[in-house]
Amino acid sequence: MDWEEYRHWGKLGVDWGADYRKNLRNISVRSPLKPGEILNKLPKTAPEQPENMEQIFSDFKEIIMPGITHWQHPRFFSYFPSNASASSVFAEILTNTMSPMCMLWQTSPSATELEERVIDWLKSALGLSNEFKGVIQDSATSATLSAVLTMREKALQWLGNKEGLFDKQTLRIYASNEAHISIDRSVWFSGIGENNLIKIPVKGKHKSLDTEILRDKIVQDKKLGFIPAGIIGVVGGTSCGACDDIRKLGQISKDFNMYFHVDAAWAGSAMICPEYRGLWQGINEADSVVFNPYKWLGAQFDCSIHFLKNKELQKKTHTNVPDYLKTSGVSNVTDLSEYTIPLGRRFRALKIWFLLRSEGLEKLRNMIRNHIEWSISLSKKLNELPGIEIITEPIFSLFTFRYITNDGSDLDHLNENILRQINEAGKIYLTPTTVDNKYVIRFVTGTLETTKKDVDFAYEIIKSNRKQ
Ligand code: PLP
Repeated sequence: MDWEEYRHWGKLGVDWGADYRKNLRNISVRSPLKPGEILNKLPKTAPEQPENMEQIFSDFKEIIMPGITHWQHPRFFSYFPSNASASSVFAEILTNTMSPMCMLWQTSPSATELEERVIDWLKSALGLSNEFKGVIQDSATSATLSAVLTMREKALQWLGNKEGLFDKQTLRIYASNEAHISIDRSVWFSGIGENNLIKIPVKGKHKSLDTEILRDKIVQDKKLGFIPAGIIGVVGGTSCGACDDIRKLGQISKDFNMYFHVDAAWAGSAMICPEYRGLWQGINEADSVVFNPYKWLGAQFDCSIHFLKNKELQKKTHTNVPDYLKTSGVSNVTDLSEYTIPLGRRFRALKIWFLLRSEGLEKLRNMIRNHIEWSISLSKKLNELPGIEIITEPIFSLFTFRYITNDGSDLDHLNENILRQINEAGKIYLTPTTVDNKYVIRFVTGTLETTKKDVDFAYEIIKSNRKQ
């Protein structure tokens, strides 16, 4: 493809994209295909000679599209949303066309300076203290891994990277048993080890980490010769929206001189609405906070904001600048790759800038308020139906429920079967989790183009699948 062909196909691609997004409501949310169906339609080796674009584009529509699960579908109520607004998609086209590598200030000054500016915009939109600076990472997992590495290095007085962990005192990291798997992975990959991630039980309606147990555990660990290195708080856990008491966790981390990271990957977006900030009260005590504008706000994956109270700690953990990365002739600039694990960095700030400018915060706030209100009213309506019980009340826009019968059926089995039938029908898409050892169904409202009517539609589907 040359650039004149790109001009032609680019226009067709944009037209195809606008039609695709406008017509989503008419197609099945989840791909109905069976494993291997796509693979069997694809040639086993790459072509030696160029093929024409008509054929490639037609194969894209015929072979690839049937195997897509439509995350932007207004009746996608599963996992968490991964929203891509039209403005951010447009910005990504521009970014991908330029494809700058934004690791150093000098390798694209706009990328660094726009990143600093949009992080400031988001910080103030979320009501965070001015003390925070930050970087954009690809995902919350990378941000949490960075935070855990910083915990490790700070606790080992910066000797871990240099000497390795062999013969060092064992570190301990604490989180609730509602913490996301990215926290487990970060602790494994940092070399601290799974046995040293101490999962604390939760309590109360927000399923918050039990801070009394945490305190006792830290004291006990210190007596046993462990070094308590960090606490990871959760705001909006994946299973059912768990929210820790961030203020208390901040106090405990101060009392024991530990690094405090907060994972608000999904729920962080809701904090653009001041009325939800009670669920992360004390957030300004954190050393590090991650949230994903690609989830609820619409800044298209990948895009994760990692706020840092003291950027220097993260820099000291991640940086060792070789000669080939030194730039001359500039001073007082920030090279953002010194704060992240990969060296290469995409120009992710551009899509946040386009998103925030073209939508405005007020519209985004209204969207989030609507999603939360619709989830709350759906859970109330479901609660009134015989044959359904609400297992966890809405936290933000996520609640869990399950089907019940009084004929002694195995309810886990029953719910698994009903959920499979709902999803195979393709009209809405829901995912399961486990709460108190029960197989339950999650419901999350969050897709950009979801309307109240879509939530009402989900109600009818859920209602019609009852067994009593
Ligand atoms: N934390 C929470 C609470 C999540 O829900 C998720 C993903 O859904 C993650 C972390 C991981 O996010 P990412 O895929 O950006 O690494």
